[in-house]
Amino acid sequence: MIKASYEELLERIAKLSGLSKEEVEKRVEAKRARLSGLISKEGAIQVVAAELGIKFENIKLKIADLLAGMKRVNVIGKIIKMFPIKQFERNGKTHKIVSFLLADDSDIIRVVLWDTNHIALVENGKIKEGVTVEITNANVRGSETTKELHLTSYSNIELSNVVLENVKEKQEVKQTQIAKLNANDRAKIRAVVVHVFDPFYFSICPECKKRVDSVCDVHNAALHRVLLSLIVDDGTANIRVLCFTRPTLELFNINADTPEQESKQVMALRNKTTDEIKAELLGKEFIFEGRVRKNTQLNVLEFVANKITAVDPSQLVEELAKM
Ligand SMILES: [Zn+2]
Repeated sequence: MIKASYEELLERIAKLSGLSKEEVEKRVEAKRARLSGLISKEGAIQVVAAELGIKFENIKLKIADLLAGMKRVNVIGKIIKMFPIKQFERNGKTHKIVSFLLADDSDIIRVVLWDTNHIALVENGKIKEGVTVEITNANVRGSETTKELHLTSYSNIELSNVVLENVKEKQEVKQTQIAKLNANDRAKIRAVVVHVFDPFYFSICPECKKRVDSVCDVHNAALHRVLLSLIVDDGTANIRVLCFTRPTLELFNINADTPEQESKQVMALRNKTTDEIKAELLGKEFIFEGRVRKNTQLNVLEFVANKITAVDPSQLVEELAKM
């Protein structure tokens, strides 16, 4: 089942069938009416696609067009980053897995190989960083923002002579609205701080990485860390943002290059009262980059920040002027 949003499917199917979006929608509604509304719009549009003869497996797709849930898709792309082969044990047997980033001029996607024949191509150096490959019969897993291309033993990967131009070099995290966030999304949100919780200070041993009260008994060392929780709002919804040490320092525009410098800056931050911290942050707008996770205890989504940048007020004025 394709997990793309209805809007995305609608656009894709209209493009592939040559029908207008309105016409495709009309067919979806007719299908639903015939089934007395027992089928969702997402389900009905896939039935319509099948009736229109649209089989995603016959089309070579751009990476940006790969939708979570698609099966047997074909793409051509350049391997821009190869990750090391990993081994893991399952049922007493050793398995291998390897992944790489595949790019074309539209987007970048992580590709995962499980099949021993495919992994052998990486081991013998045929498939490597910098080459262009054609992949057939692969499945798109994950959600829209965490999608990955998985090859099974039915999939094929081979070198391609196609010369791709304007290949993307960096994975862009898309800016989105808080109301549209899903668990496990990597995302960028632009939002205003509306609540600041008391910061939580703690110390860890740099060697054994464990929490310590003052210093580690074994290594006689400690690094000071902080966890700051905020509630931010972008007008569509609000969400709790968890800021560990580095992102917290970024909130205060403090630079620290090493863990030791970070530790010193956390000590300095400790001298501020919660009221002072609130006065500095409340009402300020930032761009938060990070990952969405589900807090299963509270059954809500949280945003774990890994990079925070203040929105430059002059840039904001420029954007408003353009509107
Ligand atoms: Zn230690």
